[in-house]
Amino acid sequence: AKGEGRNQIAHFTPEMHEEARLNAVMHQELRGAVKGNQLELHYQPIRNARTGAINHVEALVRWRHPERGLVRPDLFIPLAEKTGMIREIGEWVRQEALTAAARMQTLGLLIPIAVNVSTAEFYDHTLADHIVQQSRESGLPEGTLMVEITESLLIRSQQETRDFLRTLQNAGIRIALDDFGTGYSSLSYLASFPAEKLKIDRSFVMGMRSDERKQALVETIIKLGHSLGMRVVAEGVETEEDQALLISKDCDLIQGYLLSKPLPEQELISFLQRYCAD
Ligand code: C2E
Ligand code: CA
Ligand code: CA
Ligand code: CA
Repeated sequence: AKGEGRNQIAHFTPEMHEEARLNAVMHQELRGAVKGNQLELHYQPIRNARTGAINHVEALVRWRHPERGLVRPDLFIPLAEKTGMIREIGEWVRQEALTAAARMQTLGLLIPIAVNVSTAEFYDHTLADHIVQQSRESGLPEGTLMVEITESLLIRSQQETRDFLRTLQNAGIRIALDDFGTGYSSLSYLASFPAEKLKIDRSFVMGMRSDERKQALVETIIKLGHSLGMRVVAEGVETEEDQALLISKDCDLIQGYLLSKPLPEQELISFLQRYCAD
């Protein structure tokens, strides 16, 4: 058993070095990506469950890597969070989203836009003021910008989180609570934060029709959100059947491949023009 243990260590160490090396390479490349305009935003439309109208879009970042092609955020956001580069990326994402919203406004397509804000960006105590300033400088009407935060933020300092959210709210920036159900926050936290939207994580939505317990959870989250005066968004809606079930359970907003995948700006514009014309 001793020999085995030694082998394991001998086997494990180089791998860890390799992983660290890859991370270092990625880190360098990612730094270059932000500076070299390799990041881009795709936008996923979200519809009103009852009226069918497009309610808003969510901006989702991608990395246009010169050799590897389009890299999904799961593959670089965690690294960006670890290295602190998420702050630079977050700033870029908000700026680009607001600029795109302004471009669409000139085409008569003013639409609220949601951006993801990582808990790792909160080490910067001026973050709320930055976001407010970016929003003001865009010249867009209040209510155009929405930020999506996750429950992991709620378990940091309650007071700091509350101050952060109040600052945004006072400036007309809307707040959605993302990935609901996957974190650890208590219900009392939920009641005391001023989010207007609750997003059910897609892990609950996908497969809910064949899993009674998932379905019960989805139903409970919708009721919980409504009892707190929030509108509830279901993500990961891929089929008509899922959508019908969610509507029957009084879900307010629907996001998923059934309506549309996240689209580059030009494709979003065509989508909205076609959709509005219907
Ligand atoms: P998220 O905020 O939960 O975003 C929703 C994810 O679900 C997106 O993945 C979207 O493409 C995907 N999705 C939407 N509808 C469907 C569907 O019907 N089926 C399936 N299978 N997937 C669906 P994406 O774009 O790969 O983003 C993954 C995660 O990366 C996001 O999860 C978010 O946590 C993070 N992320 C993306 N953009 C940003 C950003 O600008 N800043 C930060 N901090 N995180 C971001
Ligand atoms: Ca999100
Ligand atoms: Ca989510
Ligand atoms: Ca997620």
